[in-house]
Amino acid sequence: MTGRPVVLITGGSRGIGAAVARKAADQGWDVLINYVARKEAAQVLADEVQAAGGRAEIVQGDTGTEAGIAAIFAALDERFGRLDALVNNAGVVDQTERVEDFSRERLDRMFAINVIGKIRCAAEAVRRMSTKHGGQGGSIVNLSSMAAIIGSPGQYVDYAASKGAIDTFTVGLSKEVAAEGIRVNAIRPGIIDTDIHASGGIPDRASAMASAIPMQRPGQAGEVADAVLYLMSSQASYVTGAILNVSGGR
Ligand code: NAP
Repeated sequence: MTGRPVVLITGGSRGIGAAVARKAADQGWDVLINYVARKEAAQVLADEVQAAGGRAEIVQGDTGTEAGIAAIFAALDERFGRLDALVNNAGVVDQTERVEDFSRERLDRMFAINVIGKIRCAAEAVRRMSTKHGGQGGSIVNLSSMAAIIGSPGQYVDYAASKGAIDTFTVGLSKEVAAEGIRVNAIRPGIIDTDIHASGGIPDRASAMASAIPMQRPGQAGEVADAVLYLMSSQASYVTGAILNVSGGR
């Protein structure tokens, strides 16, 4: 135990989550980095943070499952013994398809990870941080998407709908726990240059869509991480229930 605040980042091994881990460690947070499959990416990141003088540990766990979430929070309790912020970041897209072609399995996976997993992780965080449960307060930052507003027609309307659910969840939970020391906010990234587009079968999506973005470029993971760190910080002490677009104007 270092006495420093602790942040759990789901899906922290790559992309936006990894950028949050680096910046959080720089700004004095101890970091628990969750990954699902890419252990090496998570370990390289944790080693990088440790080499820079921070504390970072990794934990495997699929946030789309109860067993995965239990493993993540058991590791948090054992290794850190406190929680000050949850970055509810793990999320997936799927291959580009029209709605009439979505399979039931696709929708079950998408909503298990993007919606139910985030709600279940937030519940575990509330149990540990709420003053109602003897905690010291804290904050939750949910990763939504501009897709919640745009709808992603012809690409992944299911993903967009899952992000719409996160927006509503953010507003509702923020009000539920506002008097218990917990702030709950969300970020809606626009098109950010990460691996997520390749996982949806469109590796060049970020650069290809640049001209459709008012700022004429995709965002970088670090630009989203800066907004996450702001919402986690005391500079945002009166901010809750907010959903911040980080989208280059899209
Ligand atoms: P990414 O580059 O594809 O990275 C995904 C991360 O989530 C990886 O660390 C991955 O772990 C982890 N992950 C995936 N499924 C998981 C699961 N079931 N359980 C635990 N971890 C899991 O994604 P990203 O672009 O950084 O996106 C992060 C968040 O921002 C997501 O919620 C996404 O919807 C949202 N977002 C992204 C964009 C964008 O343009 N990039 C735009 C709007 C919103 P492994 O390394 O182990 O695979």
